[in-house]
Amino acid sequence: MEKLEQLYEGKAKKVFKTADPNKFIVSYKDDATAFNGEKKGQIAGKGAVNNVMSNIMFQLLEAKGVPTHFVEQLNDRETVVKAVKILPLEVIMRNVSAGSFAKRYGVEEGIVFDQPTFEFSYKNDDLGDPLMCESHALALGVVTAEQIETIRKYSAIVNETLKEFFLEKGLKLIDFKIEFGVYEGEVILADEISPDTCRLWDVKTNEKMDKDRFRRDLGNVEETYQEVLKRVQK
Ligand code: UDP
Repeated sequence: MEKLEQLYEGKAKKVFKTADPNKFIVSYKDDATAFNGEKKGQIAGKGAVNNVMSNIMFQLLEAKGVPTHFVEQLNDRETVVKAVKILPLEVIMRNVSAGSFAKRYGVEEGIVFDQPTFEFSYKNDDLGDPLMCESHALALGVVTAEQIETIRKYSAIVNETLKEFFLEKGLKLIDFKIEFGVYEGEVILADEISPDTCRLWDVKTNEKMDKDRFRRDLGNVEETYQEVLKRVQK
């Protein structure tokens, strides 16, 4: 399958049309952004890590009953996916306090929650992806009540599956962001699952093994992405 016209270029990926109207090709870039695009940079090799890792995660989740957009990996950076219409909602689940949660509530990072948290952000760069409660998402018609139910059900499976998977690799799943799309009328998991979109801490050292190394200038950014992929592939 070949790339035709470019449909869209996002911060971390490009999306291309193909000869099949039901399939897109995504191409993962090394570009990295943080703080709503204020901080920009490159992480050499990131595109390949995120592509290969996402595809491993999507196949694992399919096996657990979560439908995903994954079709076929073409090469290190490029994957054929189902041509979904992305819902303008980011789903964030947290097992441990970190990032914007710690900031919002004025608490330290590392508080282990009894129950995972579940929240939506409205995908809108101009507004800085604000936190959005369910009733607002419904009021704006961003999503239907039935879709929210499906998203909750799938997200819970994603959290449980990823938590267990990463733990076997010596990584604690602190939090993550996922996105869903609609394909042939059904909600399916789309976008990516990578160190850009998950917080992962080393089980033994608590070292941050994710995009926080870039956000916070912690060093060893490239090496950390490679190490996460190596562990995921084991
Ligand atoms: N996240 C993401 N894209 C976003 C916002 C958050 O992938 O636009 C991920 C982030 O990497 C982390 C989780 O979602 O794993 C929770 O992020 P948080 O709300 O703490 O925001 P941040 O600290 O990234 O501003």
